[in-house]
Amino acid sequence: MKIFSQLLRLGIFSLLISITHASVEVSSLPQSSSVPGGIAVIPTEIEAIEANYRNERVLLADYNGVQYAIVGIPLTVEAGTEDLYLDLPGGQKKTISFTVEPKTYTEQYLTITNNRQVNPNAEDMERISRERAEMNSAFSSWNETIAPVFKMRPPVLGIRSSSFGLKRFFNGQARNPHSGMDIAADEGTPIYAPAAGQIVATGSYFFNGNTIILDHGHGLISLYCHMNTIDVKLGAHVVAGDQIGKVGQTGRVTGPHLHWSVNLNNTRIDPALLLVD
Ligand SMILES: [Zn+2]
Repeated sequence: MKIFSQLLRLGIFSLLISITHASVEVSSLPQSSSVPGGIAVIPTEIEAIEANYRNERVLLADYNGVQYAIVGIPLTVEAGTEDLYLDLPGGQKKTISFTVEPKTYTEQYLTITNNRQVNPNAEDMERISRERAEMNSAFSSWNETIAPVFKMRPPVLGIRSSSFGLKRFFNGQARNPHSGMDIAADEGTPIYAPAAGQIVATGSYFFNGNTIILDHGHGLISLYCHMNTIDVKLGAHVVAGDQIGKVGQTGRVTGPHLHWSVNLNNTRIDPALLLVD
C-alpha cells in the first residue's frame, strides 16, 4: 500500500510538472535573426510556462538547460521594440522587450498568363476564402506530442528560384509578399519531409495547387505547394526523409517548383533560417 501511495504521489507530481512546464527539450536552436520575417531566439532567464507575442502562443524550448522563446516575427512588423509576454508559475507574469532590426526585401515581377489567377472572379474569391480559412486553421494548430527540430534538410534537391519576403507584382499589380522559398525542379522530383511531423491538411487549392501542411509540434508548421502528387494521407505521421509528394506546377505558377513555407507562432518566417546547408 505504501508503495502504491508513493507511486500515486509520484504520478501526480510528474503530472503537475508536465502541466506547469510547457517547454520542449530541443537538440539545437534556430539561427537568430531579429528582423521582419525572421526568428528572435530570446533567453527567458526564468522558467516560463507559456509565452505569447502579438496574441499568438510562442514556442518555448529548453536547450542545454536554458529556456528560450523562439519567436517568429511577421514581415509586416516595423523595426523597433516588441514585447514578449511570459506566464510564470503561480500566476506571475513577465514582459521581455526585444529589438527588431530593419530589413529591406527586394521586388519581384512575375507574369501569369491565366489572368483569373491574378484577378479571381466572385466564385473564385469564395473558394479562396474557404481555402484560406482551412489553411489558417491548420497553421494555428498546437501539438505538444511532437518535439520540433530547427535544423532541416531542403525538402527538394533543386535550385532556389525565389526567396522569402520578396515584394511581389503579378502582371504589374502589387500582391502579398512571397511567404516562402521556391525550389525549382523537374516535374515529378520527390519532395521529402525535412523533419518529423504530422500531416494536418491536404488539398487542391486555387493559388497553392496540390498542398500539404505538416505540423512539427509547438507551433512549428510547414507548407508544401504546387505539387504534382500528394503521396501521404491526412493525419499520417512522417519522419525526416519520408517522401510526401512530387514537384509539380498546380495552382498559380510560372513553372514546376516547390513553394515551401515555414510558420512559427502562426507567422510565416524565412525557411532559410532552418536549413542546415
Ligand atoms: Zn513561392
